[in-house]
Amino acid sequence: MWNPSTQASHPLSASTGMNSTCVVNISSLHILNTYFTPLPSRNITEHLGRKMEGRSPPLRDDRCFKNPYPKEIKDDKSQVLDEEQKALSAKYKGKLEENIKLLVDRWETNIHKGQSKPDTCVYTGTSGYSILYLRLYHQYQEESYLNKAGDLIKQDLRSLKGRRVAFVAGDSGILALGAWYFNKIGRADKCEKCVNELLKIRQRIVAVDEYKEDEVLYGRAGYLFSLLFLLQKEVRTDLVTEEVVRDVVKAILASGQQTAQKERSRSPLMYYWHDKAYVGAAHGFIGILFMLLQAREHLEEKELQEVVRGAVDYVCNLQQSSGNLPSSLNNTSDRLVHWCHGAPGAVFLFAKAYQVFKDAKYLQHAKKAGDCVWDRGLLQKGYGLCHGSSGNGYALLYLYQVTGEVVYLYRAAQFGRWCQEYGTHGCRQPDRPYSLFEGLAGNIHFLIDLLQPDEAKFPAFVV
Ligand SMILES: [Zn+2]
Repeated sequence: MWNPSTQASHPLSASTGMNSTCVVNISSLHILNTYFTPLPSRNITEHLGRKMEGRSPPLRDDRCFKNPYPKEIKDDKSQVLDEEQKALSAKYKGKLEENIKLLVDRWETNIHKGQSKPDTCVYTGTSGYSILYLRLYHQYQEESYLNKAGDLIKQDLRSLKGRRVAFVAGDSGILALGAWYFNKIGRADKCEKCVNELLKIRQRIVAVDEYKEDEVLYGRAGYLFSLLFLLQKEVRTDLVTEEVVRDVVKAILASGQQTAQKERSRSPLMYYWHDKAYVGAAHGFIGILFMLLQAREHLEEKELQEVVRGAVDYVCNLQQSSGNLPSSLNNTSDRLVHWCHGAPGAVFLFAKAYQVFKDAKYLQHAKKAGDCVWDRGLLQKGYGLCHGSSGNGYALLYLYQVTGEVVYLYRAAQFGRWCQEYGTHGCRQPDRPYSLFEGLAGNIHFLIDLLQPDEAKFPAFVV
C-alpha cells in the first residue's frame, strides 16, 4: 500500500515501474515563450530528476519551490490581469495561447511514440489522453481532435478490465467517455451499450458488506462521478435515473455511517482505504464528501444537513494552522500540499460547502487552504494534476469561481505562468510524463481552462 509519508510517487504510477530519470527533451524548452528573462541554457545531459545546481528556482523546503510571484495584484508588474475588466490581460492570454500550442505539439509528438506498457485508465493512460483531446476539441472546434479522442475511446473500450469501478482508475470512466462520444457523433446504439455496461457496474458496488471501497480514485465516489458526468452532459438521462444515483449515494452514506458507528467516531461518516483513514481528495474524506456535495440534488435534506455537513465540520477541525490538512488521521504531519493529499483538495470541499450551506466559516477554511496552496503549491514533484503544480492551480481557480474575487484568478494565472514553463524548473520526472493526472496532459488541460476561467473544471473530479 502506498504511504504518503515514505513513498515518492502515487500507487498508480509506482506500479508502472518506469524509469524516472529520463533525459530532458531540451530542444523544445528553448522555444517556450516565457514572461521573464530568457531561460538559462541547459546542458544536453541534464536530467529532469536531478536538481540543477545554481539554475533552479530557490526551494522553499524539500517539497516545493519558493513562490517567486508577488502575492497581491497591485505588486505585480507583469500585467497578468486587466484589472478594469477583472480578467486576464490580452498580453497574458496571447502568450498563454502560444505556449499551449507549443506544449500540445510536444505532447502529441511524445504520445505517438507509445507507452512501454499498455495503460487505458484516465489517471495515467489513454483515456486520460482522450479527455485532453475532447477539451482541445471544445476549445478550438477542430474536428481532428474529436476524431483522435474517438479513436482512443474505441480502442480503450476493447480493453475493459472488469475490475475497478471508478472514473479515474476504472472501467466506468472509459464507458462514460464512450457514451458521451457516441452520443456526440449520433451513434445512439453504441451510446446505449456504453451506458448499460456502466450501469451494470452499480450492482457490484451497492452492497455495503460486499464492496468496501468508497474513495474517488477507485471506489464508489469515483463511480458516482461517472453518473454525474453523464447527467451533466445530458447523455441518456432516461437511463441514469434518480433511483440509480440514489442507490450509489445511499451506499456511500451507509458505508461511512457503519464505520463511524463501529468506531464511535465524532464524525457521522468515517472511511478507510486499505486500513487507513485518509483525509485527502484521492483516497479520503475530502474527495468522498466533495462528490456527495456535487450530488446534493440526490440527497435528502436530513442526509445533507446532518450527516454530510457533520462530516465536513469534522474535516474543518482537522485543518492545521498553516491551512494544510493531514494526509490521514494517523499521520498528522504538515507536509504534502497536493490535490491527492492536503490543502488543494480541501479548497474544493470547503468552497463547495460554502456554496451549499451558505455559511461563511467554510469560506474562511477554503481561503486559508488556498493561502497554503499559494505558499507551498509549486511542487518539486512536477506539473501534474494529482501531485503537481497544475492541480494546485486548479484549486486557486476554483476559489475564484466560488468567491468571484479576482485575486484568486490572478494567483491561478501566476501558477499558469509556472506551468507554461513546463520542464524548466528542475522538477522530478513522473513515471508517466505525458499522462493526465501525473504529466503534461493535465498541465495543458489546466492552461486551456485558464483561457475560460469561469468554465474551468478539474477533470474527472469537478462535475
Ligand atoms: Zn497524487
